[in-house]
Amino acid sequence: MLRIRVVTIAAALTLTLGACGGSPSAGPTGNEPLQVAASFYPLQWVTSQVAGEHADVTSLTPPGAEPHDLELGPRQVATVAEADLVVYLDGFQPAVDAAVAQEAGGSALEVSDTADLVETGGTVDPHFWLDPTRLADVADAVAQRLGEVDPAHSAAFTERAAEVRARLEALDAELREGLAGCAGTDLVTSHTAFGYLAARYGMEQVGITGLSPESEPSPNALAEVADFVADNDVRTVYSETLVSPEVAKTLARETGVRTAVLDPLEGLSSESSGEDYLAVMRANLAVLQEGQPCR
Ligand SMILES: [Zn+2]
Repeated sequence: MLRIRVVTIAAALTLTLGACGGSPSAGPTGNEPLQVAASFYPLQWVTSQVAGEHADVTSLTPPGAEPHDLELGPRQVATVAEADLVVYLDGFQPAVDAAVAQEAGGSALEVSDTADLVETGGTVDPHFWLDPTRLADVADAVAQRLGEVDPAHSAAFTERAAEVRARLEALDAELREGLAGCAGTDLVTSHTAFGYLAARYGMEQVGITGLSPESEPSPNALAEVADFVADNDVRTVYSETLVSPEVAKTLARETGVRTAVLDPLEGLSSESSGEDYLAVMRANLAVLQEGQPCR
């Protein structure tokens, strides 16, 4: 009996499959590293882990920028056009999809099939990287494609992907163990980015409309939260950015819940709770253990 509707980001409303541009280019000349463009942080992280010193991996989404509604400037479009490989997620960043379709001179790797995106309520949820095992599958796909673009280093890419998989599976085991007592609890979020994480570790994501980090919550949003808290064992509402003290105070006063920050890892910045994907996921684990009514 969920009284709170789950909303999903507008950019995720459509999923058009296929449409990955181009065939593998001739590859690098001499000993120059490959030029690889990844469309946003988790793809940049996994690609650079697999590529090692054999590629320069840049992100099309600047650090700290919101990837959902990314606009590409001429410089990023040129980066797409000149890259030996572009790694992206179709349907997540329409500007990137368009640039790849029109500009990608080299190879493009589209990861939505590999990531096995899930549809909820008629919309496709793009936030697969919050389940480390899906990101490990993407690491393997990146290694395979890099090996096609740069066959001389194909064995190194495969080896590095296996190392990345081992680290991601270790993280998965930590999350599974750390959240074992939280199974069956509601994960109440203002940004519904955590569906894959919730599903993997046995929680249910509940999204709240009308809660924005900056403004005072509307009376309707407060009433929704209060009703839900009254009917369920909810202790914490998670937001993706720092909630202003006013919002946190209002929520606590009106509904009795606390607020906490879960990082959806859409970008990495000085505001992030760790220095890379693995560290931020471990910080998220600590936040969840503190905030969820775990046994
Ligand atoms: Zn998102």
